[in-house]
Amino acid sequence: MNSSNNSLLAQKTFAVFNSTSTHGALVQLCQNLMEQQKLHWPQLTEGYAALESVRVREIVCSNYTVFVQFNPKRIRSTGADLDPKAIQERKCFLCLENLPEPQKGILFQDKFLLLCNPVPIFARHLTFSSIHHIPQELESSFGVLLNLTRDLSPDFTVFYNGPKSGASAPDHFHFQMSPRRALPIECDAVDMRRRKRLYYKDHVAGCVLVNYGRTALVVESTDELRLLEFLKNILEIWKKVLGSAEEPKMNILCSYQEELWRLIIVPRRKHRPDKYFIGGDDRVLISPAAVDIGGLVVTPLEKDFLRADAKLIESIFAEVTEPPELIERILEKLQ
Ligand SMILES: [Zn+2]
Repeated sequence: MNSSNNSLLAQKTFAVFNSTSTHGALVQLCQNLMEQQKLHWPQLTEGYAALESVRVREIVCSNYTVFVQFNPKRIRSTGADLDPKAIQERKCFLCLENLPEPQKGILFQDKFLLLCNPVPIFARHLTFSSIHHIPQELESSFGVLLNLTRDLSPDFTVFYNGPKSGASAPDHFHFQMSPRRALPIECDAVDMRRRKRLYYKDHVAGCVLVNYGRTALVVESTDELRLLEFLKNILEIWKKVLGSAEEPKMNILCSYQEELWRLIIVPRRKHRPDKYFIGGDDRVLISPAAVDIGGLVVTPLEKDFLRADAKLIESIFAEVTEPPELIERILEKLQ
C-alpha cells in the first residue's frame, strides 16, 4: 500500500482488532461501531429506520418453513446487474476510496475492515471486506472465515456468497454477518431428526439435511487444522467431480459455539432462477443468496412479497441448488 492508501485506511479505521484480544472484544467493538455509525452516518440511520417497517410473512413449505421479507431498499442488491462488463464499469462499493465519507470500520488482521451494512436485512448486519480490490474467492480464506467466526461468537453467524451464488460484489472479497440463529436453516441444521450422517473422519463430521427442499451439508468440528484440511480437500474433489477449475458455486453459513465450528454448505447450480430473467408481470425479483437459501427470502417488490407461496419458494430452491447426490458422491470420494 502506498502512503495515500495508508492515510485513507487510517481515516476509515474506527478501531483495530487483533485475535489475541480477550474473548468477546470484537463483539463489543462491533456494538460500539454500530452505535457510532448510526449517529454519524445518515444513510445507516435511514437504513435501520426502514428496517423497522419491513413486512414479514411466514410460508410453510413441504417439510420446512421460510419467511419472506418485503424490503424495498434491497432493490440495488437484488436487482444488481452482474454482467462482467457492468461490474467492471461500476464503482466498486466495497473499495476504500468509494466508501461514503462517514463510513468507518474495524481493522481485522491488518487486511480486512468490518463495516456496517447500510441496507440491513437484520437488526445487526455487518459486512467484512478486504481492504484491497481482490475477487470473491474462498479457498485462500477458509482460515479467515474460521478465525472471524470464532472471534464473533456466539453472537454472529458469518456467511459467504460465491461470486456466482448471490454476491452483489463478485469482484471484491467479502463476507457478511447476521445475528446467530436469525435464519431458519441454522435451527433446522441442529435438529437431529433432519440429519443423515454421511462422513466422519479425523474429528470432522458431515451430514446432510433430509427432505429439505435444497441440498445442505452440515460440517462440524472442534479441530481447526483438521477442519481446514477437510475444507481444502472437499473443494478439490468438488471441482474434479464438476470437471471445472473454477470455485464451485456455493453459499456458506458458519457459526461457532462451545469450541465447535459448524458450517452449512449449500451447493448451487444457478445464480438466479429463470423467472428472474423473464419479461413482464411474471418476472420474480428474487436473487437467492445465503440469507434467502437460509430461509429468509428477501423481496424488494411488494408484488413478489404478496404472491410468494410454497410452490414458488420450493421451485426456486430446487432450481438454484444442486441435487443431494452431488454431495453424497463428493463425501464418498473423500471418505
Ligand atoms: Zn473493490
